[in-house]
Amino acid sequence: MRIVILTGAGISAESGIPTFRTDDGGPALWAQHRIEDVATPEAYRRDPDLVHAFYRARREAAARAEPNAAHIALAEAAEVLGERMLVVTQNVDDLHERAGHPASGLVHMHGRLASAFCTACGVRIEGGGFGDACACGRGVLRPDIVWFGEMPYEMDRIERAILAADLFVAIGTSGEVYPAAGFVDLANEVGAKTVELNLAPTSGVFRASVTGPASETVPALVRDLLDAHR
Ligand code: NAD
Repeated sequence: MRIVILTGAGISAESGIPTFRTDDGGPALWAQHRIEDVATPEAYRRDPDLVHAFYRARREAAARAEPNAAHIALAEAAEVLGERMLVVTQNVDDLHERAGHPASGLVHMHGRLASAFCTACGVRIEGGGFGDACACGRGVLRPDIVWFGEMPYEMDRIERAILAADLFVAIGTSGEVYPAAGFVDLANEVGAKTVELNLAPTSGVFRASVTGPASETVPALVRDLLDAHR
């Protein structure tokens, strides 16, 4: 069985990282900052200091958070299932990695807070300080985050994996931000079983829906997957 799992902000909510929406009961990130002020290339050109400060704060918040049972269960499944399972995360935190998820089975389609790249020469620096001058002398280090209007990373690899998948699972994602929101349609088209795990169903496009907090529903899903694998 080939499995693609898409994770969103909901999987990190119980680790204390706020989601992007106000209706989850927490101080949603985008209620405090307008997207156009911090997460677009235009915003960056207009006020890079504001954007750097915003992502520095997010990096610090992510560093304070710990992986929860959902990240840990997925990491265990990835160890056992190897290349039969790919986790595609929209999250820019590193909680999947810190739960022990093997890098070969994880795609950060919207980038990573831990990384920065130079606006002039493009070099990527792990842990590079946002706004620091690059060693090339021509640019500064910007967050390695895919902003609205930019192309998500590794789309070819993700689409190939979905085309070959028997099972597509979306965990803790509202399904409002494309192209990730369209992955389920592709999975349905190729006849994969499509399942969503969320606090409440988001749409009617999944063949099955499991409601509850990710820290409970994901370990249960992983138990079923590993039982079926044995
Ligand atoms: P979201 O905030 O839109 O949705 C979170 C979902 O998680 C909701 O459907 C909610 O019901 C669910 N949820 C909350 N707590 C949960 C829990 N404990 N267990 C299970 N589910 C839970 O987040 P999203 O869908 O990941 O957002 C899509 C993407 O949009 C984001 O990952 C982000 O990359 C992107 N985005 C990016 C920027 C940017 O800076 N480039 C800005 C805004 C959004």
